[in-house]
Amino acid sequence: MRLNNKIKITLSVIVIFTLLLTGYIYIKNRKGIEEIPYTLFLTHVEMGLVEEVVLSNNEKIKVRLENGNVFVTDNPRKVNFKEELLLNNIKVIEKDETINQTIPMILTVSIMGFILFHISRNMSKQAAKEMSQMSKIDTENNTKRLKFSDVAGNEEAKEALMDLVDFIKNPDAYIKLGARLPRGVLLYGPPGTGKTLLAKAMAGEAGVPFFPVSGSDFVQVYAGLGASRIRELFKKAKEAGKSVIFIDEIDSLGKKRQGDNPSGSEEGDRTLNALLTEMSGFNENDGIIVVAATNRIDILDEALLRPGRFDRQVEVNLPDVSGRYKILKLHSENKPISKDVDLKKLALDTVYFSGAKLENLMNEAAIYAAKEKSSEITSDHINRAYYTVLVGDEKKDRSAIQVRDKEITAFHEAGHALVTKLVAKDNRVTKVSIIPSTKGMGGFSINLPPDKMYQSKKDILSNIMIALGGRAAEEIIFGKDLVTTGASSDLEKATEMTLSMIALLGMDEETGLVNYNVVGNRNLDNKLLLNRTKETLDNLYLETKKLLMENIKVLKSLAKNLIEKEVLNEEEINYLITSEV
Ligand code: ADP
Ligand code: ZN
Repeated sequence: MRLNNKIKITLSVIVIFTLLLTGYIYIKNRKGIEEIPYTLFLTHVEMGLVEEVVLSNNEKIKVRLENGNVFVTDNPRKVNFKEELLLNNIKVIEKDETINQTIPMILTVSIMGFILFHISRNMSKQAAKEMSQMSKIDTENNTKRLKFSDVAGNEEAKEALMDLVDFIKNPDAYIKLGARLPRGVLLYGPPGTGKTLLAKAMAGEAGVPFFPVSGSDFVQVYAGLGASRIRELFKKAKEAGKSVIFIDEIDSLGKKRQGDNPSGSEEGDRTLNALLTEMSGFNENDGIIVVAATNRIDILDEALLRPGRFDRQVEVNLPDVSGRYKILKLHSENKPISKDVDLKKLALDTVYFSGAKLENLMNEAAIYAAKEKSSEITSDHINRAYYTVLVGDEKKDRSAIQVRDKEITAFHEAGHALVTKLVAKDNRVTKVSIIPSTKGMGGFSINLPPDKMYQSKKDILSNIMIALGGRAAEEIIFGKDLVTTGASSDLEKATEMTLSMIALLGMDEETGLVNYNVVGNRNLDNKLLLNRTKETLDNLYLETKKLLMENIKVLKSLAKNLIEKEVLNEEEINYLITSEV
């Protein structure tokens, strides 16, 4: 909760509480005490019914009758009032009633004071806690220095960061040549894939201090503290000289700003602005690099991605089978692993596991072994750990995906890749993967068309067929009824391309050269456009299926290799296709 809200709530609680308390005391003082007119009181006096009167400076005086009844009446504030009463044989008690009112007042004030004291203590405690979290940064530097060799797999990300290590070490060499040093690197990808590890290793390799913070630390902070913590952080980093600042979960602090957002994100904005200011504030040759991590690059404020900020973006993906093998090996190094354990096979069985999950798996296995007082970790321990780790998962977690899903994705992606190579020979397919990336859901294939100024009608037709290749392969292998939702964005693209061809680009004989945007009816309410789009798509789909059927052997071998290796590079793809065709 933000401070303003917190204070508002506490204050209203105090106010309500005080009102209730005073009200209660007031009512209690007067409770059951009936008020009578002064004249009636005088009558009571005359009749000798009054036993006792409590005099005070208050506006009312308290009267007790002989029968025990008590009431109040107006204080006449008469000079000889007391004497008069005494002459009437009435007992007079003098009491400074103000005390009675002072007590609740003192009480209220002290309660309020106590509450305020408590809040401020909590606040300073919280602030102190947050500040101490900041100073924890320093101790981080005393822990073991990590190296890139402590990160298994993630080769591309490691390479990108290795360049930066040199920047940090010898900024002058680059500045002499007029190079602009990067200030920020954004690592993005699913949780547990080693982003923090990479940033730490980068600082370790460069031999500079590492200042880790988390974006979420800055959000649940009292007003203004977020911004000042950012400044504090950068100040510390500057004092340390060259260094790596690591901001985990940057999305919680740099979410896209929305115009209609209620004041709720003001504090976040202020923190974000402080970050942006600090980042443009340090000198390029300071040798400070800010590394940020997120698994939601799509929701980041664009301001963060501009040049001079996090202008380098490095994707850190889930490991493929060879990556998983390397990670498993790394995390087995310090453990006595029995000979019956086959890490290669284990790597195959752990599709969609992140590095963190693999580490967790080996750790759980070690715990099982230790519980049994076994001297080694056996495949039995690992098997049990495997299920523990899987069961502990959230349901939607990818690692529980069935083998069947893996097969479907493999054929789907193989379909795209193969159609590409068959209909557009100049396109390069540089990578096919069945490991989901942050961009593509199921799997993805990277398809680079040659550089051309214009696209021909044939190019567009080919691209539509490539988009349909995934669904076509699914249908051929698994049957019409078992096709999946995996093709939804493919179909969107294919429809879009077909409709443009027909409605805008004059590439369809029946609809002619008319640009239907100009006529004002490009959408599919237009029966003619809809019919032509459907016919064209249907024909292209049939053609795509036919093509895949003719090359079913290649399709199967691509898919089989994908299931085994999960990622195929350009060479492997080309090899598989040419050797079978
Ligand atoms: P992220 O920051 O991407 O969420 P972390 O870097 O915090 O992930 O990873 C958590 C743990 O998982 C690491 O401390 C390490 O033990 C293990 N791990 C993750 N990826 C790797 C990897 N590529 N190599 C070795 N260990 C890894
Ligand atoms: Zn697809």
